[in-house]
Amino acid sequence: MKSNCLFCRVVAGEIPSTKVMETERVLAFRDINPGAPQHVLLIPKEHVADSLADLDLTDPEVTITWIELLKLAQEIAGGSPDFSDGWRLVSNVGENGGQSVFHLHMHLLAGRPLAWPPG
Ligand code: 5GP
Ligand code: ZN
Repeated sequence: MKSNCLFCRVVAGEIPSTKVMETERVLAFRDINPGAPQHVLLIPKEHVADSLADLDLTDPEVTITWIELLKLAQEIAGGSPDFSDGWRLVSNVGENGGQSVFHLHMHLLAGRPLAWPPG
């Protein structure tokens, strides 16, 4: 756990969240400020990186966690009619990417046509 990290505190249960699903290594919960009818955040339970930019995919343990996160996104989207018309999986990196929480996460969005390119 990284001190003062918001999502580490969510994992620890110090900040309440609405859980969607979880695996051994990954937690999926609803975004507090949804940008689409379905807006799920997927995070590694361990603070393995601040963002995709510093995710060390040469580390097999980190890679397993990353694959598990992608599989969970597939599982959530594949298991609900709310995602049947399509979905988007995105990770914001840094200031221009619009990142505001520096614990690696992906946004899973669905439920309406999503603009492309995003604003
Ligand atoms: P980022 O902007 O870093 O890509 O995404 C961070 C996301 O975390 C934002 O969409 C924001 O709404 C969400 N968020 C911020 N604080 C909380 C919180 O306390 N609980 C939940 N569930 N989501 C949060
Ligand atoms: Zn963290």
